[in-house]
Amino acid sequence: MPTETTDASAALFERARAVTPGGVNSPVRAFKAVGGTPRFIRSAQGAWLTDVDGNEYVDLICSWGPMLMGHAHPDVQAAIAGAIVRGTSYGTPTEPEVELAEEIVARTPVDMVRFVSSGTEATMSAIRLARGFTGRDLVVKFAGCYHGHVDSLLASSGSGLATLSVPGTPGVPEASASQTIVLPYNDRTAVADAFRMHGSRIACLITEAVPGNMGVVPPAPGFNSFLQTTCRQHGALFISDEVMTGFRATAQGGWGLDGAVEGWVPDLMTFGKVMGGGFPAAAFGGRADVMSQLAPDGGIYQAGTLSGNPVATTAGLATLRLATDDVYARLDEVSAQLRTEVTDTLDVVGVPHVIQTAGTMFSVFFREGGVRDFETAQDQNTEVYAAFFRAMLARGVYLPPSAFESWFVSAAHDDRAISQVVEALPAAAVAALTTLEAS
Ligand SMILES: *Cc1c(COP(=O)(O)O)cnc(C)c1O
Repeated sequence: MPTETTDASAALFERARAVTPGGVNSPVRAFKAVGGTPRFIRSAQGAWLTDVDGNEYVDLICSWGPMLMGHAHPDVQAAIAGAIVRGTSYGTPTEPEVELAEEIVARTPVDMVRFVSSGTEATMSAIRLARGFTGRDLVVKFAGCYHGHVDSLLASSGSGLATLSVPGTPGVPEASASQTIVLPYNDRTAVADAFRMHGSRIACLITEAVPGNMGVVPPAPGFNSFLQTTCRQHGALFISDEVMTGFRATAQGGWGLDGAVEGWVPDLMTFGKVMGGGFPAAAFGGRADVMSQLAPDGGIYQAGTLSGNPVATTAGLATLRLATDDVYARLDEVSAQLRTEVTDTLDVVGVPHVIQTAGTMFSVFFREGGVRDFETAQDQNTEVYAAFFRAMLARGVYLPPSAFESWFVSAAHDDRAISQVVEALPAAAVAALTTLEAS
């Protein structure tokens, strides 16, 4: 293994810090939770990232989900190149938007979609729509679920059952946070109590289809169905946030793991990441009677200069068309292989851990016993994860730089990429053990 140098990344990070807060445009990229120099990536191909110092890494974040087909897939590249020569934005309706909308409607239970440019915008717009539709203000969310940096959705720590929460970050007005009820995930009693107390004022409940932003925490069997029924009983809308899981966890997203089997449908859904094919594109969609309340047909306003951008929608469409059942079967295989290798290697050295899975997504928690909510997710040894992360990185494997994230694989993760991960694991397991024993 060549000695890894990070001089060029370090120099860029220093320049970046002078002109951008923390040197990054999204906080987790700064490596604060794991230590070390954030790697500035110069290029990517298939399952591999190359940084500005020339180091190569097997990529296990895939741009935090979007790169389902791997980086620089030739068919996606060709579609993008074809779109770019026709111009990059017109501010008019275009054909690729219609095609991508039809593709999403065909693959998911939504009747209609509207495009936006980020997952944050998708959840923000879905909530406005739910409030406009119901004429109510309160939003219910779960601690540990992330729905983008929307004011009312950043509240993550409520003081318990059916209590109106305080802001989770400076800058969120009290008035905004006080419209949000934050509940513990997987807790039916908390949900039932909140609806019993405030049901007539609740516009919607929003949840990740399978939470992936506190690490992967699957819903208990029947939990999402229970949420949907509870919302319906109280005249609130059930919003399933599939920005991460959509077209990723399974061919039918997180919904493919329960709703598709049990026979229920969320009122609204949000999508992003994979459907943008690596470009800023996201969407919200759902029941036709709700969606048609949006302007220009209805009175609820929502708009965007670059919404449905022709290059972004072309990239998304090319990606979804490549994402066949065979691709998802391959992703399942790669994901299962990696989970087995990780758990076997950690078992050999005796590092307690638990791996949780949602379709092709999974994450590794350094703790004993399963994680069912944010409280148990926080009860893990993040120092051990940091040591494990750094050892993997030094051996050419780029894991999520936080213990509270999912690992993502792509259709381009071949035997060579998997071998590089497998070869890195024993030393990383020892690094984890050393940190564990010192803590
Ligand atoms: C990533 C994510 C978002 C936010 O999407 P952005 O494009 O980063 O604004 C919202 N919800 C979930 C579940 C996500 O994983």
